[in-house]
Amino acid sequence: MSQTHKTKVLIIGSGPAGYTAAVYATRAMLEPILVQGIQPGGQLTITTEVENWPGDTEVQGPELMVRMEEHARAVGANIITDHILSLDLSKRPFTATGDSGDLYEADAVILATGAQAKWLGLPSEERLKGFGVSACATCDGFFYRGKEVAVIGGGNTAVEEALFLTNFASKVTLIHRRDSLRAEKILQKRLFENPKVELIWDHVVEEILGDDNPKSVTGLRIKHAKTGETRDLSVHGAFVAIGHSPASELVKDQLELHSGSYVWVKPGTAQTSLPGVFAAGDVTDDVYRQAVTSAGMGCMAALEAEKFLAENTAETAVAAE
Ligand code: FAD
Ligand code: NAP
Repeated sequence: MSQTHKTKVLIIGSGPAGYTAAVYATRAMLEPILVQGIQPGGQLTITTEVENWPGDTEVQGPELMVRMEEHARAVGANIITDHILSLDLSKRPFTATGDSGDLYEADAVILATGAQAKWLGLPSEERLKGFGVSACATCDGFFYRGKEVAVIGGGNTAVEEALFLTNFASKVTLIHRRDSLRAEKILQKRLFENPKVELIWDHVVEEILGDDNPKSVTGLRIKHAKTGETRDLSVHGAFVAIGHSPASELVKDQLELHSGSYVWVKPGTAQTSLPGVFAAGDVTDDVYRQAVTSAGMGCMAALEAEKFLAENTAETAVAAE
């Protein structure tokens, strides 16, 4: 049977931003509810080594996120397995509906919904998703032991995915639409030095080639970005790593956005265009998009929610009765 959960602070999302917000809000005695969403732990659960989380020279992404969840639980955060389908910010208390059928009422909301992988948008990509087309080398790399694969993209994710895939594949071809990568220099160095990696510059993927029986990828048709010349490349797997879109669907018609669909916050704060609603992490940040910056913004959002609630208790209190 569906329930109504009342809280001072509803935190939506369980990446570094959400868990950090939960730790701070719980320690501020706000008794927050954190709704995890369909990817508990967020994006770091689909990567391997994280080498830039302060205090850990190297830590596995999934392990780091389990530790963050444990930390939030240890201080007493109420963590709920559910996915928010709709959020009504037009009246107070704010209300949200979960996939479970449960309702959530909150005086303040912290949006920490992060971002999702982008796809090329090709019909052949859609048809072969899960049959040789993937956006997660960590999840699917193992299936390509001794085979040739391609990675599409030129950012940190693409380079990390390519390097990771060299653990399994006999050859990894990185295809980038320009003639220079935007990935960090240290990652680029590792990529260039890896004998299993070949780079194809200035090319876009025009079509993913495949068989239907059994459904599988057999190659890529790539096009030179400047000359328009096309050629086919034989590969068994195609890993799309071209970035992420902010998960701002819930609020796109209710809050001010920036740079496409990122949630706008007042510079230097986590305050959105609506008092009492805060945003933290990749859902608002089109620049840094890191675990540590997301965690930092989660902290800011919780501290600002605490201040907001202290100044607005009389009008908005709906704390658990
Ligand atoms: P996310 O981690 O994206 O989490 C979003 C959360 O929101 C998820 O839990 C999801 O379930 C939840 N959610 C979404 N919609 C809803 C909804 N409607 N209802 C409820 N919950 C919802 N950064 C680094 O600093 N170092 C690295 O080494 C590094 N490696 C990376 C490797 C890969 C492959 C990728 C993709 C990213 C990497 N990043 C790295 C970036 C880092 O993962 C992100 O910056 C960070 O995870 C963003 O944190 P977040 O809390 O904003 O959101
Ligand atoms: P990103 O930095 O936005 O890079 C996306 C790449 O894909 C770019 O090279 C882009 O090309 C290319 N691209 C975009 N759309 C394309 C299309 N339609 N067709 C072909 N190529 C396309 O995304 P990301 O690599 O996923 O990284 C996201 C964030 O997470 C970044 O802030 C990154 O620093 C962070 N991250 C950090 C680490 C780490 O610290 N170790 C690891 C992974 C991710 P152009 O270059 O031409 O734009």
